[in-house]
Amino acid sequence: MRLRNISGSREQVAESRFVVQEPECHKGAWKEFFGNEHPLHIEIGTGKGKFLTALSTLNPDINYLGIEKYSSVLLRALQKREEMEECRNLYFLRFDAEEILNLFDRGEVARIYLNFSDPWPKDRHAKRRLTSKEYLKRYDQFLAADGAVIFKSDNRGLFDFTLEQAKEAGWRTSEITYDLHRSEYIQGNIMTEYEEKFSALGNPIHRVILTR
Ligand code: SAM
Repeated sequence: MRLRNISGSREQVAESRFVVQEPECHKGAWKEFFGNEHPLHIEIGTGKGKFLTALSTLNPDINYLGIEKYSSVLLRALQKREEMEECRNLYFLRFDAEEILNLFDRGEVARIYLNFSDPWPKDRHAKRRLTSKEYLKRYDQFLAADGAVIFKSDNRGLFDFTLEQAKEAGWRTSEITYDLHRSEYIQGNIMTEYEEKFSALGNPIHRVILTR
């Protein structure tokens, strides 16, 4: 994502009532944070928040956390969040996923969405890809036993890498499609900002579900 540093964004994010400040304090206690027993779904690299904003409105009985590294991007998600009707099931974290093990306890997350994750094309940066073996190992530590990682991308290189990494890490892959928008799996699909942009350019969207 091309980043424009927006002056004051860090302060605005730090003051937002929709951002969980010091999220590590809620590790193992997200049910208490939300005040209910609903399952927790997270999106890592949430960007401008369109996906989770739509999903949280459709599914009031699921709790959602959007994790985004950069304040200037998250600010856009918070603007959308402000415009939503009263809604208690969606919050955001300004957080680097590299430290994600500080956020969740064993089995605490039921689903992880990875949408159009940064490809990190250089081999030496492969460990930074959010679908690398290293990240799958982290997810394994807090994803519920019947939980899933759902990954969408238009980047074929990153998608093939993901399938290889999943195999090497002993994860199962299912419902693979190389053209989601023209597949049987399109029903109920919610488009992200990047998905809208890339599909408008004619790029097919790839999607896979990873389970253990
Ligand atoms: N998911 C959105 C979409 O599909 O429109 C945004 C996709 S954008 C290419 C990737 C996003 O992931 C960026 O906003 C970037 O800042 C965020 N990101 C990348 N690495 C991250 C990390 N380690 N932790 C949290 N967010 C990250």
